[in-house]
Amino acid sequence: MTVTQALETALAAKAAAREPGSPLRLSASGKCARYLAYWLHFPELIPPPTPRGLAIFELGQAVHDWVRGYLAAAFGGRFHSVEREVELEVAPGLRVRGHTDGILETGEGPLLLDIKTASARSAQRMHEQGVPYEYRAQLNAYLEASGLERGALLVYVKDTSEMFELPVRRDPAVVEQVRQRFLKVAQSTPQALPEREYARQSLACAWCPLQTRCWEGAGEGR
Ligand code: SF4
Repeated sequence: MTVTQALETALAAKAAAREPGSPLRLSASGKCARYLAYWLHFPELIPPPTPRGLAIFELGQAVHDWVRGYLAAAFGGRFHSVEREVELEVAPGLRVRGHTDGILETGEGPLLLDIKTASARSAQRMHEQGVPYEYRAQLNAYLEASGLERGALLVYVKDTSEMFELPVRRDPAVVEQVRQRFLKVAQSTPQALPEREYARQSLACAWCPLQTRCWEGAGEGR
């Protein structure tokens, strides 16, 4: 066995042992409601990450810690609330939890930071088209749960190690979409899943691991 094969075997073992956890978490705020309901009712359908997918995820986590270390060095106590647990009240009796990447105190008030890693290609798309909906939904959920108005996506470009930030203001319409999304998931049943949020030919469905089940399965709602 080569060194690379041994590393891949270790990653594969860890990937296979990962539990999908609960879909009712703030990091899932921008995901398709139907996908989240499949996750809630049929967790066995959610494929474990591939070894490469796990490597990408774990390197992303390492970059998070690295960036936060430099934020702490640059701003001292003005950068705080790292991994602070927050809760979004979706409806009476239904609260969805998440953890903030950190909050920076600025002259214009607190700024909620959400750190992301991106390829050069997706970074270019963000420059041209702005913050993608999934990230805006996440940041809005964290802003609402933290009682803050201003946030920023802090993007680390993996190919070049460049960094840039994109501002996001709390948008009540997006917050409401997130609340409705989680509510639909929580109120769904295995026989009645939420409506699809995307068209069959969309990029979201093309990448969705449940595409075949969603569009060709039977008896789970429209
Ligand atoms: S295939 Fe598309 S509509 Fe269906 S769960 Fe996945 S993202 Fe949602």
